[in-house]
Amino acid sequence: MENKQKIKQSWKPFRHLIKTSKLPWGLYILNFVLSLVYTTVYSMMPQVKSSILAGEIFSPALVATYVIVTLASALLNFPLGILSKYVDYTSQRRLRRNVWKKMIHLPMSSLDTMEPTSLVSRVTTDTSQITTAVSYIFSILQFTYTLVMIFAIIAAINVKITVMLIVFLIPFIILAILPSHFMHNAQYAISNALSQYTNFLSERLGSIEQIKVFSAEEKEDIANDAASKARFKAQRKQLLLSLISQPLGFSMEAVVQGVVLIYGGALLSQGILTAEQALTIFMYADILYVCFYQFILCWQYFKIAQGATKTASEISLMEPETMEREISFAVPDADLALENVTFAYGGGQKVLDNVSMTFPCGKVTAIVGPSGSGKTTVLKLLERLYQPDEGEIRFGDISAEKIHLNEWRNSFGMVPQNNPLLFGTVRDNITYGVPEKVSEDVLQKAMSAADVDELVEKMPDGLDTDIGDVGSRLSGGERQRIALARMMIRDPEYLLLDETTSSLDAKNESQIVNALGQLMQGRTTIVVAHNTRTVENADKIIFLENGKVTGEGTHSELYESNATYHRYFDQQQVV
Ligand code: ADP
Repeated sequence: MENKQKIKQSWKPFRHLIKTSKLPWGLYILNFVLSLVYTTVYSMMPQVKSSILAGEIFSPALVATYVIVTLASALLNFPLGILSKYVDYTSQRRLRRNVWKKMIHLPMSSLDTMEPTSLVSRVTTDTSQITTAVSYIFSILQFTYTLVMIFAIIAAINVKITVMLIVFLIPFIILAILPSHFMHNAQYAISNALSQYTNFLSERLGSIEQIKVFSAEEKEDIANDAASKARFKAQRKQLLLSLISQPLGFSMEAVVQGVVLIYGGALLSQGILTAEQALTIFMYADILYVCFYQFILCWQYFKIAQGATKTASEISLMEPETMEREISFAVPDADLALENVTFAYGGGQKVLDNVSMTFPCGKVTAIVGPSGSGKTTVLKLLERLYQPDEGEIRFGDISAEKIHLNEWRNSFGMVPQNNPLLFGTVRDNITYGVPEKVSEDVLQKAMSAADVDELVEKMPDGLDTDIGDVGSRLSGGERQRIALARMMIRDPEYLLLDETTSSLDAKNESQIVNALGQLMQGRTTIVVAHNTRTVENADKIIFLENGKVTGEGTHSELYESNATYHRYFDQQQVV
């Protein structure tokens, strides 16, 4: 179905991406000018050769011209190749930076519409295609220049034959340009299929253990074949289009030579052309055909490249998050609140339905409730990763929307439930997001408070151990303790915690609860609590069920008054 949708071939996103990527235009122009010089020098060759064939072989001027033209062409050819590659690589680097920067500044609601792993090919493959498209624009200009020059040379010899050539070539240009439209669409499908396939592969490779556990190798073999089929089908379509357009290019040779031989022959027999002139035109006709063919190919390739870069270009037009708002966050502490908030991810089912809740300043509030009731979503809204569809987040009397977003996020520390580790070494992980250099002393204190000092000591390179080497071997509790050490260094004013649900052994559990206790002290904390000790110790509990608040109060109040909470809490204890 998706392939059948009409694909809008708009220039705007492509132009916008190019404009904002600060491409090395100076180098492009230098490359372009040098290639024009090369073309001009090289296009003198047919005239020189036909004079030689006409018998002027012993003319010193002609021999000198021949030697100069040959040498100049050879000398320009090699550096031009190197320069154009260098321009390409520089452009790719700048484009990658631009696309990546654009991506990380997009709001979560936009990022959610794209598969994270498919975004990889937007930064890698698509950006190379964009530079290819840009270099084709210059090639099209270069071939246009060459064509005009050759037509001018032929017209200087004879206008009639020039007009005749143009008349015969026009239908070919039209016929050759038409498939480009479809080639663009086919390439768009190929690129999309490639990013979906990348997505498929990275998902499967990440779950290889599961595949083996369920003996699903055969099933995954078939799934892989199905996943790569979409790309194959789009490639096949593109091949078919080439089947139409390529012979068109070759038949152009016959047309050009035919016009020159038949019409040129007639003019020769009428004495309008001399034999040397006819020979010169014949030789230029050869370059003319090649140039035309290249011109059309470049246009087709340009359309193909444009098709491949459609999504990356469109990303460049998406609205980034607005960091600058009306007021600074440097205001006195106040209660945080959600007021009549309704929220759904990507316009789907309501996750929160008209909920209001207050998180008292300096106190610990626990959000409790069955899985899927929207607890983590509340934390994400408080961190302002997403915006409520209705209602608002308030800080005292101020709407959060009015407060600078970067200042807000810097004041909040969020410890997510799963995979809070990032990349780099353990040290990089613990100090991530801290603007200033962290002293060894502060680092040691945080590690011991979060109970990770012993754990780090056992690692092969201590703090400098690469997280990639140990990350997958760390338990949920160990990962969360590292994340807690990070929070202790970051020292945020507001703490958002999503307690791990993975079962912890008694030692791990008490270590985490102790570390949490230290971290929460005197801080406005909102914790999605699974641990009964955290729940009991919280100043306030909000019981959330199916996107609605169904109870609020202290643990003992709720335990007495709310039968569902009572049951839920007892079940947690059994667990
Ligand atoms: P809880 O923390 O109470 O288990 P969550 O807030 O994580 O619940 O999720 C609430 C609902 O929102 C669930 O149905 C979940 O599938 C859905 N959900 C969570 N994150 C996303 C997302 N990024 N996109 C779409 N749906 C989501």
